[in-house]
Amino acid sequence: MSREWNIVVCVKQVPDADDVSIDPDTGTLNRSDAEAVLNKPDYNAVETALRLKEAVGGTVTAVTMGPPFAKAVLEAAVGLGADDGILLTDRAFGGSDTWPTSLALAASAEELDGDVVICGEESTDSSTGQVPPGIAAHNDWSQLTYVEELEPRPENDELVATRDIEGGHEEVAASLPVVVAVGFGMNEPRVAGLHRKIFSETEFEPEEYSASDLGIEESVGLAASPTSVGGMDTADPVEREREMVDSVDELVDKLQSEGAI
Ligand SMILES: Cc1cc2nc3c(=O)[nH]c(=O)nc-3n(C[C@H](O)[C@H](O)[C@H](O)COP(=O)(O)OP(=O)(O)OC[C@H]3O[C@@H](n4cnc5c(N)ncnc54)[C@H](O)[C@@H]3O)c2cc1C
Repeated sequence: MSREWNIVVCVKQVPDADDVSIDPDTGTLNRSDAEAVLNKPDYNAVETALRLKEAVGGTVTAVTMGPPFAKAVLEAAVGLGADDGILLTDRAFGGSDTWPTSLALAASAEELDGDVVICGEESTDSSTGQVPPGIAAHNDWSQLTYVEELEPRPENDELVATRDIEGGHEEVAASLPVVVAVGFGMNEPRVAGLHRKIFSETEFEPEEYSASDLGIEESVGLAASPTSVGGMDTADPVEREREMVDSVDELVDKLQSEGAI
């Protein structure tokens, strides 16, 4: 008989993209204007984690690294069905770029004895897509990115993924432990049930890990971050034109007359 899996799902708190404005003087994002929400691609990650648990058995633990109020995204994940949540919070994490962020998430996945770590494709605020491969690299685990479908093979301790590659798909099998970055929109995330939502908002308390709890206090924060931002610029919005057509034939004629096809 195969064993059950420890599934870790990484969820990030981001400013609601619909609310974010740009400071015209500094060219930086006015993050404080926007409501803090669960990164949209991470709904696909939570859904994937819950479906894996339904297929294989085990537990789903949501992990986030952020300030104390990032607890809200753990509540969202627990409301959707995650069994537990861990908050990585410490002043020492401040200023971390993707390298220490991945390190902290990797260390927590090890601490939780994770078999599978599920992440979203990318965040909607920094959008590097570097964190899932970073977690795999720090722990020397397998990685599956741009995943469209997942098939667990618990009898072999394996996950088989259909990956989106330019111009097609490929099927790849990876041995556990494995880090998976799921494609944005790869599934239809469930809606939180009322009882679970009430539990997550009234009774659930995440366990907190500091950098020293994970033994990485010397390797996180601004000083441990190799990235430096050289400058920033804003692009003016492009003026868009639009024309309505009544039929596909008319559309084809228009495109032909414009030389577009
Ligand atoms: C020089 C530099 C300094 C920075 N300083 C700060 C700072 O002071 N404060 C600050 O808030 N940000 C800072 N950032 C941004 C920060 O590095 C990123 O937000 C973070 O590393 C995650 O990268 P990303 O958003 O591109 O994740 P991606 O790689 O695009 O995310 C992919 C997936 O990884 C998971 N994931 C990503 N981040 C987290 C997380 N924190 N917790 C759980 N899961 C996660 C999610 O599943 C997500 O869908 C800085 C970035 C740079 C380059």
